[in-house]
Amino acid sequence: MLLRNRLLFRNLTSFLPSPSPPPKSVSFILSFNKTIAYSTHKLPKPQVVAIRATKQPILEGARFAKTVLFVPPGVDSEDVTDEMILPGSNIVLGPYASHSQIKEVEFVKSSGRAKDCPKDNRPEFAILGRSNVGKSSLINALVRKKEVALTSKKPGKTQLINHFLVNKSWYIVDLPGYGFAKASDTARTDWSSFTKGYFLNRESLVAVLLLIDASVPPQKIDLDCANWLGRNNIPMTFVFTKCDKMKASKGKRLDENIRDFQELIRENYKQHPPWIMTSSVTGLGRDELLLHLSQLRNYWDQ
Ligand code: GDP
Repeated sequence: MLLRNRLLFRNLTSFLPSPSPPPKSVSFILSFNKTIAYSTHKLPKPQVVAIRATKQPILEGARFAKTVLFVPPGVDSEDVTDEMILPGSNIVLGPYASHSQIKEVEFVKSSGRAKDCPKDNRPEFAILGRSNVGKSSLINALVRKKEVALTSKKPGKTQLINHFLVNKSWYIVDLPGYGFAKASDTARTDWSSFTKGYFLNRESLVAVLLLIDASVPPQKIDLDCANWLGRNNIPMTFVFTKCDKMKASKGKRLDENIRDFQELIRENYKQHPPWIMTSSVTGLGRDELLLHLSQLRNYWDQ
């Protein structure tokens, strides 16, 4: 059984015994409407938690009247307060969050196939997104080292799976960007089979960070990608990039893009994935994203 599935099972079963009372919340796992995760295991459905997020300045700016929260393990949804929600996100901070700063990062290897990737079973986060979404900039901002993202941009490396070891304990994995404007359908298919192999076979993949450019309206290719990951029960976090582009006069535009994307995603998920707003220019969301990764990682590690 894949670790990912083990996590799903363990996570769900931690709320047992069921059927009564029903679970307070189920986290980490995205349940796609068409998946059979719940029916297969005969486990109760997750409770969708919706609360008013009025005290978060960034959320206020984004004008989300309500947000569907991502409640991590160890937190009872009834105990969630506004202060526990990471600013500019729907992510609740729980007891598994810990030290999250990046002290050192080293490039380990580039792999052409999933089976060539490092085999030390350290937890990893894959960073995925459309070409030009701001992937390299985000990686730079996270690790605060320009050469890391430069490595990924070197000719010959952009179509490979690049592993970076962080604090000698976990990996950031840079995946090839998708949706090149001029790419032929064949090129897209090649990307699909290559990257799908990684997603479907990588046991130590904790979650995919799917980068979405908040400065443009929802793109079909991003929605297709999110839906494919969801259908295959691969946990993901939506990382909205370029959120500094929210000028006062155009603020609504960015809000609308993010909200529209969420609405389109909501149609397909029983439980909304975690999401967070970031900017590599201002540093918005950086520390919050690292905290989020720490709680996913620590839960995975235990
Ligand atoms: P990649 O192709 O996904 O690796 O994207 P890059 O990181 O190379 O960024 C593509 C373009 O978007 C560059 O011109 C960046 O300067 C710009 N960009 C990336 N992140 C941000 C951001 O947070 N805010 C703004 N305003 N521009 C960004």
